[in-house]
Amino acid sequence: MLKVENVTKYYGSNLAVDNLSFEVKSGEIFGLLGVNGAGKTTTFRMIIGLLDKSSGNITLNGKPINYDVTDEIGFLTEERSLLTKLTVQEQVIYYGILKGMKEKDILEKLDIWLKRFNISEYKTRKIKELSKGNQQKVQFITAIINEPKLLILDEPFSGLDPINVQLFMDVIVELKKKGTSIIFSSHRMEHVEMFCEKLVVLVHGKSVLAGELKQIKKDYRKKNIHIVAEEVDLKKLSKVNGVVDVINNETEIIVKLASDENINDVFEFIKHCKEVTKFVVEDATLNEIFLDKVGVLYEN
Ligand code: ATP
Repeated sequence: MLKVENVTKYYGSNLAVDNLSFEVKSGEIFGLLGVNGAGKTTTFRMIIGLLDKSSGNITLNGKPINYDVTDEIGFLTEERSLLTKLTVQEQVIYYGILKGMKEKDILEKLDIWLKRFNISEYKTRKIKELSKGNQQKVQFITAIINEPKLLILDEPFSGLDPINVQLFMDVIVELKKKGTSIIFSSHRMEHVEMFCEKLVVLVHGKSVLAGELKQIKKDYRKKNIHIVAEEVDLKKLSKVNGVVDVINNETEIIVKLASDENINDVFEFIKHCKEVTKFVVEDATLNEIFLDKVGVLYEN
C-alpha cells in the first residue's frame, strides 16, 4: 500500500505541492487529477524517489522510498522516455536489469507481453522505427515487466486508437485484480470515471476534492434528467424550479438541475406531457463536477 502523508514540495519559493495526503491500497485504482501545473508530475517524481520532498512522508508497504522500494514501482510517464536508438528487446532488458531482474526472466515475460500487445514482430526493431502507439505499448511493457507493486500511469492512453485503449484498459484491470496498486492520471474524465474508485483533485498543489468517486457524485447535488416524450414545451420546462439548462438533442431532452431537491418539480411538469417513455435521473459526470469545482478555483 502507498501512503502519502502531509507532503509538501517547494521549488525555491514556488509551492508546487501543498500538504497532500492520500492512500492507495493493494488492488485499487486511484485517480490523481488536476489542471496543467497542478502538481501531479511533482507528486509522481517524489513517489518514485526522483525528487526530494520539502516535508512529509511517503511509504510503500510501510517502507520509506529508497532504491529497494523504487524497484517495486513501475512508472509510465506522460512524456516519452524510451531510448529510441535501442531495439525493443534491448530497451526492455535495460530497464528490467535496472529493476533487478535476470535477463532470462525478462525475455520470457517480454515475449508474452509483445504477443498480448500484438507487436511481436517489432522485438528486434529500433524504437525510433515504431509508430507512436507502438512506442507507447513498449513504454507500458517497460513499466510492468518487473510486476511492480505500485504502477503509476500518467496519461497512458495518449496516442492510442480506441482498440488499443481497450487493450490497455483490459491489461490495467487484470493488474488491479492481481493486487497491483495503480495511480492513474488523465485529463480525460471519462477514462477516470471508468477506472478509479477513489481520487484526489489538485489545484495549485492542494487537494480540493478527494474521496470515493461514488460518494463524490452522490454528494454533488446537481443532477441531469434524461427525458423522452412527445410535445414538451421546452420554454416552460426551462422555467421549472431548479432547471438551469435544457438541452434538446436528436434523441432526448437533457435537463440540468441545480439540486436533487428539484427532481420532483420536473417530474410534476413532465407527467402532463404526452407519451413520456423516459425519465431518468443521473448523477453529474465527473467532467461536470471537475469543471464546476476546479474551474472557479483555478481562475482565482
Ligand atoms: P501537467 O498536467 O501540465 O503535466 P502537473 O500537474 O504535472 O502539470 P507539475 O509539473 O507538477 O504539474 O508542476 C507543478 C508546479 O511546479 C508548476 O507551478 C510548475 O511550474 C512548477 N515546477 C514543476 N517543475 C519545476 C521545476 N523543475 N522547477 C521549478 N518549478 C517547477
